[in-house]
Amino acid sequence: MKSSKPLNSAVIGSGIAGLASAIRLASMGVKVTVYEKSPTYGGKLGLWQRDGYRFDTGPSLFTMPDYVIDLLTIDGLNNVSFDYDELDVLCNYFWEDKTRLSAFSDREKLKQEFKEKLGEKPENIDHFLNDSRQKYQITNHVFLEKSLHKLSTYLRWETLKSFLRISKVGVFKKMHVENMKQFTNPKSIQFFDRYATYNGSNPYESPATLNVIPHYEFGIGAYFPKKGMRSIVDALYEKALKLGVQFKFSTEINQLIKSDNVYKVDNEDVNYELVVCNIDIATASQGPLKSLVKVQNNHYSPSSSALIFYWGIKKEFKELDLHNIFFSANYQREFESIFKRHTIDNDPTIYVQISSKFKKNDAPSECENWFVMVNAPYVEGQDWNNLISETKKNILMKLSRSLGENIQELIEVEHILSPQLIWDKTGSYKGALYGSSSNNRMSAFLRHSNFSRHHKGLYFCGGSVHPGGGIPLCLLSAKITTDIINNDFKIC
Ligand SMILES: Cc1cc2nc3c(=O)[nH]c(=O)nc-3n(C[C@H](O)[C@H](O)[C@H](O)COP(=O)(O)OP(=O)(O)OC[C@H]3O[C@@H](n4cnc5c(N)ncnc54)[C@H](O)[C@@H]3O)c2cc1C
Repeated sequence: MKSSKPLNSAVIGSGIAGLASAIRLASMGVKVTVYEKSPTYGGKLGLWQRDGYRFDTGPSLFTMPDYVIDLLTIDGLNNVSFDYDELDVLCNYFWEDKTRLSAFSDREKLKQEFKEKLGEKPENIDHFLNDSRQKYQITNHVFLEKSLHKLSTYLRWETLKSFLRISKVGVFKKMHVENMKQFTNPKSIQFFDRYATYNGSNPYESPATLNVIPHYEFGIGAYFPKKGMRSIVDALYEKALKLGVQFKFSTEINQLIKSDNVYKVDNEDVNYELVVCNIDIATASQGPLKSLVKVQNNHYSPSSSALIFYWGIKKEFKELDLHNIFFSANYQREFESIFKRHTIDNDPTIYVQISSKFKKNDAPSECENWFVMVNAPYVEGQDWNNLISETKKNILMKLSRSLGENIQELIEVEHILSPQLIWDKTGSYKGALYGSSSNNRMSAFLRHSNFSRHHKGLYFCGGSVHPGGGIPLCLLSAKITTDIINNDFKIC
């Protein structure tokens, strides 16, 4: 039913998917008010600065920039600046036995590097990456760009074609088992198994479908925004303002109330015909949306979380690049520690991101800003103080060993983000980085839908609902959600 006066909508949460939904709704002529409990926008794409060091506190890897550009030019105007560079070296890898490998984006250089450093046959790399591309082509349009909870998705020829080719996607195989068959060197297996962590999953449990993830980096490309990761949400916020979106910061919504087919937030006397919830779905269902949403516990297994140390380092390391990985010696044990024992292994794989390698003013001269992250379990009654100090010791020993320097002595400033703090700050249930994990082959179908089946006008976006976590998928969730709204309300 087409209404003459603009629809009035509320978006609860200004994470990246909340911002993207607000932009899309506003560009459709819908009036939008965004409610955000924090004093600023962006959710997990946070910022921390001290003594000349600047840190992006959340995501560090940027893929699929076109999804951002689509939003910034949605009204045909190119009136917000946002620049980024493509990476030639995606990541540097370090093993304790001094093996070092650079993951080049160029396929030929990558194959040469695998051959020289790991003795891996070039055709194994080709075979794996071609298969990854094929998985992407089969799954992308159906599993990521459309709602899996609408009959119309299944009635499309494209969907049928994808289902006919489903055996090629690896749904019924385990990722690690499949990778063991593809490569000869255990280090190559570890290298490609790591991609399960890109959505907080366990390569020893998750389906081989996750082997689609390398295609995003090696097939489409990895990038870095010239002004840092936070500039992604800076640009989206600026665009939202230009489109007339209103923001209410430091405004935590405690209850969403529905009466006579309109919604009210807390005690405000404003009626909203539609609401997009960007709060983690499990948190929302136990809090502000308690009377409107139920999440079945047996459908919800949180993804892994992370423990991050932000260190200002008073030295430059020539052997390090923007993204660096120091692998654990026993990868399987590390994942068992995270997912079975709910702890952090004493030899964790360490990720070090240094944005000052690209953006010099992120650290004082001759210094570097280190974002040091290990995968961690979701919150399950751990003694975090103890676990944080033990893990810090283990990280310092491992990095000092690998780099031949006493790293502790080089730390000038420090800030820490733990799973509990991620939960407290952003509302991510149990501190999960990516909503629910993809350890189960049915995960894609078990993720919450982008709309409410029971309440007209209630919609969901963000990393905890379909199609899942990570910047690109969150941006797709906003597109799927607003496409459904467009269809439900016959807007344009
Ligand atoms: C340390 C870390 C590293 C990561 N690395 C990467 C990476 O390299 N690449 C990548 O693509 N992804 C990465 N991710 C995942 C990515 O950040 C998330 O998937 C994505 O940002 C989630 O966005 P979202 O829209 O779901 O909302 P969120 O960012 O979760 O934001 C939700 C918003 O809702 C607000 N809110 C909650 N409750 C209320 C309430 N009651 N009332 C009002 N507002 C409320 C919160 O304050 C918050 O602003 C990482 C995440 C973290 C934490």
